Amino acid sequence: MKIVFATGNEHKLQEINEISKGSGVEFVLPGVGFNPVENGKTFEENSYIKAKEANRVSHKMTLADDSGLCVEALNGAPGLYSARYAGTQQEKIDKILKELRPFENRKAKFVCVMTLLDDAGNVLHVSRGECHGEIAKSQSGQNGFGFDPVFVVEGTNKTMAEMSEDEKNRISHRGKALTDMLEFIHSSVV
Ligand code: IMP
Repeated sequence: MKIVFATGNEHKLQEINEISKGSGVEFVLPGVGFNPVENGKTFEENSYIKAKEANRVSHKMTLADDSGLCVEALNGAPGLYSARYAGTQQEKIDKILKELRPFENRKAKFVCVMTLLDDAGNVLHVSRGECHGEIAKSQSGQNGFGFDPVFVVEGTNKTMAEMSEDEKNRISHRGKALTDMLEFIHSSVV
């Protein structure tokens, strides 16, 4: 079964296809014309906006995710604005390390919300996954993307960028939200 995944980020598509391997579901890109305006006020609203836009373009069953990094000492920032927090990946990492320099409290979490729409654009299911940890004092690791090199996962002493893809997918916000979503798809759609 193919489901359109509302993203332009190929790394994310690859991650979710890796998590879904063996589930009988394959995610594909929405194709040309996909251009969501992410002006929602919550992860839920933005994931709905992306799913609706992918459905408008494809007229197929669509899954979207919206995710971000919420840092306690920064009152939940960058949160919804994680993708736009700075220019390049390295600039984002440098900025978060600099902003947190004055703080003892380095607690943070990744959040991911997923919305599944049927081919007519109706909401079938919404799932949410969180991964708790803290922001390291310096970056390490080469894997993953975004803030992975500075996010130390709770209960480990590794950043997400030091984990293998499999390890990350088992504990990540996206992995948890998708596992819940795949359970829904298997129990209610196929
Ligand atoms: P969006 O969900 O595509 O709107 O973007 C979320 C942003 O949050 C990304 O551009 C990353 O900066 C950050 N982010 C979300 N998930 C992860 C992750 O698994 N690792 C590292 N950064 C992430």
